[in-house]
Amino acid sequence: MIQITMPLGFLGTVYREIRQALVDMGEMFDLLHQPAEIEDKPGANALKVQGGAISFDKVEFHYDPSRPILKGVSLEVPAGQTVALVGPSGSGKSTIGRLMFRFYEVTGGAIRIDGQDIRDVTQDSLQAAIGVVPQDTVLFNDTIRYNIAYGRDGASEAEIIAAAKAAKIHDFVMSLPEGYNTAVGERGLKLSGGEKQRVGIARTILKNPPILLLDEATSALDTQTERDIQTSLKAMGEGRTVITIAHRLSTIVDADCIVVLEKGEVVERGRHEELLAHKGRYAQMWARQSAEEEEEAGEAAE
Ligand code: ADP
Ligand code: MG
Repeated sequence: MIQITMPLGFLGTVYREIRQALVDMGEMFDLLHQPAEIEDKPGANALKVQGGAISFDKVEFHYDPSRPILKGVSLEVPAGQTVALVGPSGSGKSTIGRLMFRFYEVTGGAIRIDGQDIRDVTQDSLQAAIGVVPQDTVLFNDTIRYNIAYGRDGASEAEIIAAAKAAKIHDFVMSLPEGYNTAVGERGLKLSGGEKQRVGIARTILKNPPILLLDEATSALDTQTERDIQTSLKAMGEGRTVITIAHRLSTIVDADCIVVLEKGEVVERGRHEELLAHKGRYAQMWARQSAEEEEEAGEAAE
């Protein structure tokens, strides 16, 4: 009995850690169901990232054959550029993120990274190349150092601090009596939503992925915190290929390209000014959000 209790206890810990990592990504994609097991092709090679260019080539997808979700989506994200996905709830934005991670397999067309079909490479190498900042970072019941260092095995203290600085959380950490040794999470210091998110950003900066996938929160962060986070996210995007799923359009006006999805199809694409001039779906969404924000600002001023 004792002989098997030991290894099982150990497995429990490992299992919880894996669950935790899945929770991080699950929250980011608001995954409801455990996706079907997808296996690597026999003899699959590791993804060779050059610049991290992403290409969706007539991608089709359904969760259930009776209901197509993506109906031939094509989009290109050149290496180092930022593409923003916008569109009404249910249009398929988060699904695009899940497919990039290969949580699900496309049912038509192909997704390529630097010319390699993601079905032909190992999932480990694919998932290592993509950094995700979840809407709500889950922290381990451990120190701040551990929570950041989780981004990359064997990171040095200097690298951890550099990542924390880039994520604009270093000064806050240094203001704590125990600094990076401060225990956080359920049994330690409770961090605010913005602080947790910055720890998540530091973790991702440390991971140093060539590709970033951001599913922006319509989160309960206050405006100032959201602005600070945006600054950290922008800094993190420098030199990387970024796909950002945007809810607040004001955060993506600088994107190299904005892609408007509706019912699983691309209905418009272009830069912010181009789409405004086009006076189509994006211009409508922009006008609606601007009006809402003015209303909120008015209420706040009262
Ligand atoms: P968005 O992120 O744009 O709001 P999603 O990509 O999450 O949209 O969802 C697109 C469509 O797919 C929605 O109609 C949603 O109900 C459906 N959907 C999402 N996840 C699942 C799932 N696991 N099983 C079945 N249908 C799903
Ligand atoms: Mg979504």
